[in-house]
Amino acid sequence: AKQPVRVLVTGAAGQIGYALVPMIARGVMLGPDQPVILHMLDIAPAAEALNGVKMELVDAAFPLLKGVVATTDVVEACTEVNIAVMVGGFPRKEGMERKDVMSKNVAIYKSQASALEKHAAANCKVLVVANPANTNALILKEFAPSIPEKNISCLTRLDHNRALGQVSERLNVPVSDVKNVIIWGNHSSTQYPDVNHASVKTPAGEKPHFLPSTEDLSFTSLIRLHGEFITTVQQRGAAIIKARKLSSALSAASSACDHIRDWVLGTPEGTWVSMGVYSDGSYNVPAGLIYSFPVTCRNGEWTIVQGLPIDALSRKKLDLTAEELTEEKELAYSCLS
Ligand code: NDP
Repeated sequence: AKQPVRVLVTGAAGQIGYALVPMIARGVMLGPDQPVILHMLDIAPAAEALNGVKMELVDAAFPLLKGVVATTDVVEACTEVNIAVMVGGFPRKEGMERKDVMSKNVAIYKSQASALEKHAAANCKVLVVANPANTNALILKEFAPSIPEKNISCLTRLDHNRALGQVSERLNVPVSDVKNVIIWGNHSSTQYPDVNHASVKTPAGEKPHFLPSTEDLSFTSLIRLHGEFITTVQQRGAAIIKARKLSSALSAASSACDHIRDWVLGTPEGTWVSMGVYSDGSYNVPAGLIYSFPVTCRNGEWTIVQGLPIDALSRKKLDLTAEELTEEKELAYSCLS
C-alpha cells in the first residue's frame, strides 16, 4: 500500500478550505489510490470552526483519509507536509488601501515561509491561492531560500479553467474537447487570457485555431464575437460574487486540485496548463517575478512551454501584467522594510 501524503491547507476553516478539504480526502487532488493525511491550519478566532470541519471529515468516513491535524500552530501545521496549499490570507475590507492588505499578507507569508522551510518534508510543493497570489508566492520564495524555486507556485488554474469554460460555451463543444488556452501574468484583472494557441476537437481531428482555414475563422470569430471573451474571464470572479453574494469557492477549490494533480502526476501528452511560476526570462518576462505561463509537467516538475509565437497585441498584454507584478513586488518589499 502507498504511504500517505501529508497535505497542508491554510485558512482551512474558510470558504475555499471548506470546499477543498473534502476534495482532497476523496482523492480528487492526488488520485483514487493515494492515502492522505490532512493538516489544517487557521487562526485562533477560527479554531472552533476549524474543529467543526474536522468533525465533518470524521463523519464523512473518507476511506483515503488516514489522519487529520487541525491546529492554530503554524509549526505543527507545517511539520512533514509534502504539499502545502496556502489559502489563508487577510481579506481586503472596505476602505482598506491596497498597501494595507499587502502589508498584512506579506507578513503572513513571510512567517509561514520560515515554518515551511524549517519543518516541511524535503521537496514539499507549495501552491499559493490567497491574494495577491503571485506576490504572496514571491515573498514565500524569498523567505524560504532552501525551498527550491521550482517548488513554489501560485494558482492561475481557475482563470485557465474559466477560459476553457468560456470557449466551450461559445463554441457549444464539451469542455473536455478544448485545450491549450493560456493565462499569462498576474492573478488579477491584468491577466491575459489567450486563445491564440488553443485548439478544439472537431470531427476532422484536433484543430489548432490559428490555422487559416474557413472552419477556423468561424472558431476565432465565434470566440471573439460572442461578447468580450477576455473581459468575461477577467471579471468572472466579480460576476460570481454578485450572483452568489459569496466568492467562487467551489471552482477555486476544484482548480487547486487540478493544479496539484497535474504538477504531481503530469499533464497529458500534447496538453499544457497555466501555472504561476518563477520567471526565468522566458517570453521576455522579467526574471524573478512569479508569473503565469503555459507549462507542461512530468515527473513532478513543470517546464515552461517554449517557442509560441506572440503577436503585437499579445506582447502588450504580456508586458502590462508584468509591469503590475513588478509594482506589486516593490510595494511588497516596501511593506517589509
Ligand atoms: P476564502 O476562502 O474565500 O479565500 C481565501 C483566499 O483565497 C483569499 O485571499 C482570497 O482572495 C483568495 N482567492 C484566490 N482565488 C480566489 C477565488 N477564485 N475566489 C475566492 N477567493 C480567492 O476566504 P475566507 O475569508 O472564507 O477564508 C480565509 C481563511 O483564512 C479564514 O479561515 C481565516 O481565518 C484565515 N485567515 C488566516 C490568516 C493567517 O493565516 N494569518 C489571516 C487572515 C485570515 P480575496 O480576498 O481577494 O477574495
